[in-house]
Amino acid sequence: MAGIMENIFAPVFLPLEDVITETPTIKTFVTCPDPPIHFRAGQFMQLTVPGVGEAPFTPSSSPYEPERLEITVLKAGTVTDALHKLKPGDIVGLRGPFGKGYPLEKFYKKEILVVGGGVGLAPLRALLLALFHDIDKVERVSIKYGAKNPEELVYYKFFDEWAKYKKVDMTITIDTPHPGWEGNVGLVTELLKVLDINLNNSYSVVCGPEVMLKFVTLSLLNAKFTPKQIYLSMNRNMSCGMGICGRCNVGPYYLCKDGPDMNYDLIKDFPGVLG
Ligand SMILES: Cc1cc2nc3c(=O)[nH]c(=O)nc-3n(C[C@H](O)[C@H](O)[C@H](O)COP(=O)(O)OP(=O)(O)OC[C@H]3O[C@@H](n4cnc5c(N)ncnc54)[C@H](O)[C@@H]3O)c2cc1C
Repeated sequence: MAGIMENIFAPVFLPLEDVITETPTIKTFVTCPDPPIHFRAGQFMQLTVPGVGEAPFTPSSSPYEPERLEITVLKAGTVTDALHKLKPGDIVGLRGPFGKGYPLEKFYKKEILVVGGGVGLAPLRALLLALFHDIDKVERVSIKYGAKNPEELVYYKFFDEWAKYKKVDMTITIDTPHPGWEGNVGLVTELLKVLDINLNNSYSVVCGPEVMLKFVTLSLLNAKFTPKQIYLSMNRNMSCGMGICGRCNVGPYYLCKDGPDMNYDLIKDFPGVLG
């Protein structure tokens, strides 16, 4: 833990510098903590909307630019509805970071297959920006991303920029046909049917809704990825963030403390892991 968090139980209250509408259901909330809150890609924060409540979110911005912390949020219920109503200058609380974050060093010299669904690309964006920062250290970053429809493709404006990095390729799809859309149609698992990745030298990192995690994992296993080569973002209901309350445990692991990005090999034999 680093940065301005002296007491991990007490949020730091900050004004929103900006609120960016990404899609009809997703917004990015920007704060500029001073001093910055340092985090690893994949670690998460507990965000408070004063008077409403607190919920966990993974920063979507670069861990190398902690002075501008971005959190991208799908409108899903009580806290996120209230958050979506906030404007620049309104106050939010932040505590964290929590969890371990991605094992970036393990990804060096490897081909990384990054698979995202819907708002799941938000936590993955922090990982992607960290990988782009050290792009010479990885062999390749192959991004497969799916959303319900073209309007819900989060960060669409950045896709060309990302694909310009040497060693990076990106393929996107939408779930069902849409007027004017000439790209891929079908679930993100369709994009995994023909993989040109070097299986012996790769990891796959997956983030999205639970049902997507399940079918992507099955597709990856079918493509002969081993469970050890698969990392799943287990973004399930969490409360304390510190492995105390027991709301998120899977076998001996606390997703909040040991994850939320878990190596599938560690958790695959426990009930309910793939829903
Ligand atoms: C470690 C972690 C990181 C996350 N990162 C992001 C992120 O970057 N962006 C983002 O948009 N969301 C993220 N989520 C999901 C986010 O925390 C939930 O959408 C949020 O807690 C919903 O709160 P609410 O009060 O708006 O909804 P509620 O009113 O509590 O619930 C609305 C619906 O959402 C379901 N729900 C509640 N909490 C979760 C949850 N944690 N996961 C899945 N479904 C839930 C409820 O069962 C209910 O059906 C993350 C979750 C975790 C655990």
